[in-house]
Amino acid sequence: MLGGSTGEDEICGTVTSGGTESILLAMKTYRDWAREKSGIMAPEMVLPSSAHAAFDKAAQYFGIKIVRVPVGTDFRADVAAMKEAITDNTVVVVGSAPSFPHGVIDPIEELSELARERGTGFHTDACLGGFLLPWAERLGYKVPPFDFRLPGVTSVSVDTHKYGYAPKGTSVILYRGWELRRFQYFKVTDWSGGLYVSPTIAGSRPGGLIAACWAAMVSMGESGYLEAARRILQAADEIKAGISSIAELHILGEPLWNIAFSSDTLDIYRVMDFMSGRGWSLNPLQRPPAVHICVTLRHAQAGVAERFIQDLRAAVEHVKKNPQQEGGMAPIYGMAATIPDRKVVAELLDGYLDTLYSV
Ligand SMILES: *Cc1c(COP(=O)(O)O)cnc(C)c1O
Repeated sequence: MLGGSTGEDEICGTVTSGGTESILLAMKTYRDWAREKSGIMAPEMVLPSSAHAAFDKAAQYFGIKIVRVPVGTDFRADVAAMKEAITDNTVVVVGSAPSFPHGVIDPIEELSELARERGTGFHTDACLGGFLLPWAERLGYKVPPFDFRLPGVTSVSVDTHKYGYAPKGTSVILYRGWELRRFQYFKVTDWSGGLYVSPTIAGSRPGGLIAACWAAMVSMGESGYLEAARRILQAADEIKAGISSIAELHILGEPLWNIAFSSDTLDIYRVMDFMSGRGWSLNPLQRPPAVHICVTLRHAQAGVAERFIQDLRAAVEHVKKNPQQEGGMAPIYGMAATIPDRKVVAELLDGYLDTLYSV
């Protein structure tokens, strides 16, 4: 499914608890691999600004410097700028297939070649796309190469608990070759509790979730995934056409099914608030302000895409007539965008979680 082969470069991996853990483990693996193989003591990761926040989490948890490179006007990674950002301390270069914010696929072929020339690792974050892009390609959609068919790609994260239809709590991290995977393993040789070795971050692990994941995969099967992808991409095409037909809105980049859109004339967060009132939960994005709808199988049910576009038209009309209306999430996002001191925004997020835990 992801271009794996057997033999010396056999693709292997582990099941993890989610995309974040897959990414955390990959970054830890490259840090430790580069320390042993190249003596890199001040590791850096190079990634487009659009790569998932889980990479920041890895950087913070594992003491890796994060070098984020602005994406191009098409919201894809800027290959020339990424090349400039690679240093002797780079342990891994990252690209997304597709990105969480805008659903566009980075130029993985060029990026992974940059990494290969420099002898550094390359991670494709296919958390969102791993269980959809292979089928989209078979269905004739334009899918640039992103997986192990590219020789420079040394790891791929793919979320079974998204488009693999497993219950939440599983993902897979894959590596090119057993040697690399070893740097993921955690070993303690001198503990009185015995020789201790653990493949992932968790100690005790839920076998039930892994079994349920396996069951989801064999019950869906290739034909199930292909059919699900066909329906999702069709619904997404309808939704894209609908958004494009609304003069005040435009789509960001060229997404397949995770569709980000914004407006030059309206506060897009107010459009989002109106949509929330109609039961649509769009994800707010920033820099630039936008929202996205990540199309799933539920949206592929009869009439849903049509209803979404009807409601979106109503939302645009409403915001046009009431541009100053108070309330909702729009003022919070509006404010967060303008506060230069990001510590203040971070405190706001602390307060948000505290509030959740206090009720
Ligand atoms: C969802 C997602 C992640 C993180 O995965 P979780 O399962 O939420 O931890 C990482 N990258 C991309 C592109 C994603 O869509």
